[in-house]
Amino acid sequence: MTAAERTLLIDEILCREYGAPFVPFSFRDPVSELVGSLLSHRTKNAVTRAAYTKLRESLPTWEAVIDAPTDTVEEAIAAVTYPEVKAPRIQAALEEVRKRRDGELSLDFLADMSVRDARDWLEKIPGVGAKTSAAVLSFSRLRMPALVVDTHHQRVAQRLEVVPPKASLDKCATILQQYVPADWDGQRVYDSHQGFMRHGQRVCHWRSPDCHRCVIREYCPYPSRD
Ligand code: SF4
Repeated sequence: MTAAERTLLIDEILCREYGAPFVPFSFRDPVSELVGSLLSHRTKNAVTRAAYTKLRESLPTWEAVIDAPTDTVEEAIAAVTYPEVKAPRIQAALEEVRKRRDGELSLDFLADMSVRDARDWLEKIPGVGAKTSAAVLSFSRLRMPALVVDTHHQRVAQRLEVVPPKASLDKCATILQQYVPADWDGQRVYDSHQGFMRHGQRVCHWRSPDCHRCVIREYCPYPSRD
């Protein structure tokens, strides 16, 4: 069985185990999702949500965020990690979108592109990597079939040996995206990420994975190394 075939088999088991289809957690437009994703790096979800809400209350339009003193943005997002880095990064990313779209601050046009082309467009924005580009396309109302791979998803895939053990997050995301069947829609790809992520959060912990109660144990070489 190839790594791709094994990934898809495991994906089916995890989707069944955790109750796919999963309800999307976000209905934002893609620009808002871009900001949310830039805020979320190395920050808990609840803290990210609170900082996002505070930013929107302080500066209700993305144009206002671009024009505001960086200190004001930093103050609004102070609860997230590295606000001093994220504030100028968010302003620069928004400005970059506006500049490349001739003054229009919108990413809705990405819906007319292939996932690869849309991700390439986004990843030319400084500070936007594979995880953020996939999140913008998958989590926003665009609902495009871009596979988000977070550290939980990466850990499970590496223990299953469907991606190289030392591959970076971006490299894992690239490989796993290649395994996604061409006919999967955005919901199906979202479900796949959610299945792997939930398994990483609930069973395949970073420290001491609960292999004895793992529903994909028979496909995993990791317990024999444990
Ligand atoms: S068998 Fe253990 S290491 Fe492998 S996926 Fe399951 S919990 Fe993770």
